[in-house]
Amino acid sequence: METVDLLAGLGRALAEGIVADRDFPPFARATRDGYAVRSADLAEVPARLEVVGEVKAGDWPEPGVCSVRRGQAVGIMTGAPLPAGADAVVMVEHTSVAQNPHPNVAQNATLGWGTLGSDTLGCDTLGEKFVEILRSVRPGENFVPRGAEALAGQLLLDRGRRLDHAGIAVAASVGKSRVQVFRRPRVAVLSTGDEVVEMDATPGPAQIRNSNSYSLAAQVQNAGGEAVRLAIAPDEPRRLRELIEEGLHCDLLLLTGGVSMGKYDLVEQVLGELKAEFYFTGVEIQPGRPVVFGDCGLETSVRADGEAAAGTRAGAPAPHKKYFFGLPGNPVSTMVTFELFARPMIEALAGMTPQPLIFLRARLKSEIRTKTGLKRFLPAVLSGEFENAEVELARWQGSGDIAALARANCYVVIPPERERIEAGEWVSLLMR
Ligand code: AMP
Ligand code: MG
Repeated sequence: METVDLLAGLGRALAEGIVADRDFPPFARATRDGYAVRSADLAEVPARLEVVGEVKAGDWPEPGVCSVRRGQAVGIMTGAPLPAGADAVVMVEHTSVAQNPHPNVAQNATLGWGTLGSDTLGCDTLGEKFVEILRSVRPGENFVPRGAEALAGQLLLDRGRRLDHAGIAVAASVGKSRVQVFRRPRVAVLSTGDEVVEMDATPGPAQIRNSNSYSLAAQVQNAGGEAVRLAIAPDEPRRLRELIEEGLHCDLLLLTGGVSMGKYDLVEQVLGELKAEFYFTGVEIQPGRPVVFGDCGLETSVRADGEAAAGTRAGAPAPHKKYFFGLPGNPVSTMVTFELFARPMIEALAGMTPQPLIFLRARLKSEIRTKTGLKRFLPAVLSGEFENAEVELARWQGSGDIAALARANCYVVIPPERERIEAGEWVSLLMR
């Protein structure tokens, strides 16, 4: 755990609960601009009430000085405390001023404000003035009672919750300028492939630049982890093993490429040499079918020659299990399998309470034809507005088309048994 400035906690998991330091709201708070009244006075409307003062936000209406008695009203602004005696607020839109509106404040007059009084703090005293109330109100209307949202000492945000902008607002509202959060898990990112070169290199005719390490690093950061990008591993077991061992020093290792059926897809073989336990070695989805997940435990990371390897140093406390994902190298497969499998793992390692993935639904803009057998996650563009969300597959040239992928904003999820989905059907989406 560590304690950080509130805004530095954005995206981190709370290691402490956030507790109300006082009642919320701390006073009965008006939620409308208008007049504080006794609802009983408005059994019959229109009713004429004597305006005996005004409370604006930030004023404190001392009960002895500013309260509402029978037949009276107090002008009140949104966010101001309800004066004693009042049990409701009438919106100014439902009032009109009964007497001599000031000629200079025509707009206020039509709204039922009339001339506002002197600036006596707490409850402005006015000359004799009346307001006509056009609609009745129920007791409790248009204000929030003290403590209705939370009582002092009540838990507002749980430990394990990820701090987003709304959580930051809650922390700020209780005066938490510093918050205790969980450390970010360190996530090693290891790209494999003889054809892959670093982005500032000039690729040879058969080479491509490494983009997966960067998309993954960005996804890791987004999920609340800290990415550690390793060197690119060639499709050669010795160097690959060295880099895997280096990656196992982190809290989680993400590999990309080298997990398919190719002759030079060596990731599973090398992990096997490291006595990895595989929890699964494939999933029935497309793209992303070859993804593998497992761990290398303590004893498995000690080499045959007895030399301590990944995570085991003399005198160091026994390391816990080191988990890894082998993600397929196709950029879209890498991105999809990260969202489906690696993200929840990183969130768990980051101390977050597990959250289910959220799938939305939208209407399909144009027909889709696919092969059956696997659940498909197809890059798509969600558009439209309000209740008319529409989705359409991204136009792309197969799973290496990163630019088309970047223009998409979600994945359409197609059940394995569907071969054809008509325009206008509702489909599931995974947002990106
Ligand atoms: P693999 O899973 O190793 O068979 O790779 C599948 C496809 O993804 C191949 O076309 C690779 O060239 C490509 N690929 C693999 N690693 C990367 C990477 N780090 N960045 C971009 N493309 C990659
Ligand atoms: Mg490869």
